[in-house]
Amino acid sequence: METRELMKKATIFHGHICPGIAVGVLVAKYVLEHGFERSSDEELVVVVETDNCSVDALQALLGTTYGKGNLIHNDYGKNNFKIYSRKSQKAVKLALKASVLDSKKLSRDEKIQKLLDQEPEDLFDIKEIEFNPPILAQIEESVPCDICGELTMDSRIMRYQDSNICIPCYKEIK
Ligand SMILES: [Zn+2]
Ligand SMILES: [Zn+2]
Repeated sequence: METRELMKKATIFHGHICPGIAVGVLVAKYVLEHGFERSSDEELVVVVETDNCSVDALQALLGTTYGKGNLIHNDYGKNNFKIYSRKSQKAVKLALKASVLDSKKLSRDEKIQKLLDQEPEDLFDIKEIEFNPPILAQIEESVPCDICGELTMDSRIMRYQDSNICIPCYKEIK
């Protein structure tokens, strides 16, 4: 798919056009052109180190979504993207080059255009990495919180004076 078509699809999902989406589109473009297929189930796992607009392009174009559990956010505040394919057992990391966004004189539209005119290889440091994806989403038992009664994943329940308490309730009584 052409960059422009990918951009259109991602923008519809995201809601507006912005430089972040353009960055995400170029990540997706590289991935789709290098033997990774869009993930209808959990074939792909993506680990991002940012929660900015770019992540929405990956959700829209790669099928790696928060709800399916194959989109994982490490809150490091970096424009780094790791993509794992369970099918091919391959993995790749794209790291946005420092020079890319330092063009402060450009307007927002000029920035978007400049990004889209480039190839992923110009924008990112790209390297193959070891295939060791994080554990995939697991179905877990839920238990009711002894205070509010709401069903809560077992791993998120706090034990307090022999009671099972959810995190928000625990914060209130502490
Ligand atoms: Zn945006
Ligand atoms: Zn509760």
